[in-house]
Amino acid sequence: MLTLIKNAEIYSPHYLGKKDLLLVHNKIGYIRDSIELPELSFADIEVIDAEGKMAVPGFIDSHVHIIGGGGEGSYKTRTPEIQLTDATLSGITTLVGVIGTDGTTRNMASLIAKARALEEEGITCYVQTGSYQVPVKTLTGKIEDDLILIDKIIGVGEIAIADHRSSQPTVEEMAKIASAARVGGMLSGKAGIVNVHVGDSYDHLKLLEDIAENTDIPIKQFYPTHINRNPHLFEAGIRYAKKGGYVDFTTSSIPKFFEEGEVKCSKALRIMLDEGVPAGQITFTSDGQASLPDFNEQGELIGLQIGKVSTLFSEVRDAILQEGVSIEHAISVITKNPASILKLHQKGRIEEGKDADVVLLNKETLAIETVFSMGRKMVEDGKAVVKGTFE
Ligand code: ZN
Repeated sequence: MLTLIKNAEIYSPHYLGKKDLLLVHNKIGYIRDSIELPELSFADIEVIDAEGKMAVPGFIDSHVHIIGGGGEGSYKTRTPEIQLTDATLSGITTLVGVIGTDGTTRNMASLIAKARALEEEGITCYVQTGSYQVPVKTLTGKIEDDLILIDKIIGVGEIAIADHRSSQPTVEEMAKIASAARVGGMLSGKAGIVNVHVGDSYDHLKLLEDIAENTDIPIKQFYPTHINRNPHLFEAGIRYAKKGGYVDFTTSSIPKFFEEGEVKCSKALRIMLDEGVPAGQITFTSDGQASLPDFNEQGELIGLQIGKVSTLFSEVRDAILQEGVSIEHAISVITKNPASILKLHQKGRIEEGKDADVVLLNKETLAIETVFSMGRKMVEDGKAVVKGTFE
């Protein structure tokens, strides 16, 4: 399987200029100024003229409720599973699945089965072990064993803090989770990171800062998300990032959240960079398939929407087109940065030898046109050419 992409402006996410890109089976084979292939009798070669297009790495969405989530307005509010084309039409070629509030009817066995299903359908998928709850409900009974023995498990999470729905973990409990994740990660060559859901309470990131200051656990063992959910957490997030911590912003939203002070991701990225936070510490995730509850002023549930993975790239596009963030920095928050933080060494970069996950964008509008996942064309001219089993 050979695919030759000609004349693409490559953002690796670092700008490489206009080049030809040869995908060999599921890897990026060669990147050259010009590649001319001889007629081959033994192989079909698809040649794509990418004049006027940018080639960027396939996107990584590292916080998605792939088996559905929600349920916080009783059973009927449980959200559905993600479908393959939800991801591919959004340029996403790598997903990391998480559970969420409901660690009872959602469990690790079904999370791993869904990750495998998505891989059979053509994209890459990993999972985190656990849910909001502490003690962590693992697959094998121990965080270390999950990481060391189960290929798909790359870390722990999303553990909830600063939230009325969290198990209210103590510093000691959270430090023990982090050290188990750290050791499991070391022994398995994985990130072993602890993905932390941060809620609306004024405790913010204090628990994680206490651990970083008072134990041997480094601040980078944690990967806190939803940092843009309100202005006071966002301010705390800037201070946290300046201490060296990672910060993840959630792209799924509804207009009501913005009225209440949520910081739009595109803007949050620009502000963090202006504040001098190192670009590599910042990521976006969609929180896709989570429920987005809308309450009226009396606190009654008046509507419920589902988080969409399509918001992942639309916020990156807004960061470039509306906030003036450089293409390299904006693309990095959904490619190179999560790949480094999560130690997904084959992902997040257009480099020879990496996985052939490539997105072609219209250079002017930044519309997603063509998507390759592991060398296979999933989307062409903005339409899915490969569909999930039940689509
Ligand atoms: Zn969450």
